[in-house]
Amino acid sequence: MTALRVPPGGVLGILGGGQLGRMLALAAARLGIECHVYCPEAGSPAFQVARHVTCSPYEDEAALAAFAESCDAITYEFENIPTAAASFLSARKPVLPDAKALATTGDRLTEKTFLRSLGIGTADFKPVDQRSALAFAIATLGRPAVLKTRRFGYDGKGQALIRPGSDLDEALAKMGGQPAILEAFVPFEMEVSVVAVRASDGTVRTYDLVENRHRDHILDVSIVPANVPASVEEAAQTIARTIIAALDYVGVLAVEMFVTREGALLVNEIAPRVHNSGHWTLDACLVSQFENHVRAVCGWPLGSTGRHCDAVMTNLIGDEVAAALSLAAEPDAALHLYGKRESRPGRKMGHVTRIAHKRA
Ligand code: AMP
Repeated sequence: MTALRVPPGGVLGILGGGQLGRMLALAAARLGIECHVYCPEAGSPAFQVARHVTCSPYEDEAALAAFAESCDAITYEFENIPTAAASFLSARKPVLPDAKALATTGDRLTEKTFLRSLGIGTADFKPVDQRSALAFAIATLGRPAVLKTRRFGYDGKGQALIRPGSDLDEALAKMGGQPAILEAFVPFEMEVSVVAVRASDGTVRTYDLVENRHRDHILDVSIVPANVPASVEEAAQTIARTIIAALDYVGVLAVEMFVTREGALLVNEIAPRVHNSGHWTLDACLVSQFENHVRAVCGWPLGSTGRHCDAVMTNLIGDEVAAALSLAAEPDAALHLYGKRESRPGRKMGHVTRIAHKRA
């Protein structure tokens, strides 16, 4: 039996106030759960839709204590929660997913080592802490290769592609003195992801495999179903299930993978949270990734992850949001705007999901 942590009418705390927090709060509201969003940035998108908000730094223990006091359980919309804040809160209220998930997935070296220990494929990799280690890693893995900071990288930030002839010092400088990892370059056919959810009683459900296309290192389009053989879809689902069970995880996580020319799957990254490549579930599934995350962390029964139609989700990045009203007029499109007042290049302003009904 799963312990009920947040009953209907209870309060779920959310650390982080971006669009993911916003969509979590909206999903919680549908279940009659109030949200308390904690975020240091004024004007955060999730503040507009939450019952309670705290705008304060993650170092403000008085604000954290009052936040914890007001919540029945706490979750987060991003993985780089300062460790001190996470442990301060978890001493007071349940924080889910737990610290183990953050520790394992928050460092690319720990994450890849964990994946290999489960027999799951990844790009070959070597830790790189200094110039001599980089030269050694290049000698072992060859070029091209991708140098990445171990922590705090996302959307291609903290990364350098090392081609034949690339300057190693320049690549290392991009790491800003942070510990790094060198990965062999994977000449993939396709990038895919699985969004999975697990309840405290061990029940696991997964959404269908999605194809993801990136532009300038930012997710551009997610397409479901992914155009892969059934055996690849099954293998991807098994990988996601293996990971979520091994982490003893509660909530939603996303597993990003490369599909190679030979149809093999290599995991690139685990995101311990709801994920951009699962936004299509809002419109193509009975119960979205956001609602299933809320259900899992609140101790409710999980909802269906079944998909009732095909879907293509397109992010609206920067000025693309100017097309919002014409997208709103499309008959088979669901428009989602995040309430961000200012558009900047590379900033995710909203998304649109176009659906195609399955034939009976
Ligand atoms: P990441 O920050 O690890 O999610 O990487 C961002 C994007 O860079 C991925 O979605 C891929 O398109 C590309 N990329 C990352 N690692 C590799 C790799 N080892 N080989 C080829 N492409 C990669």
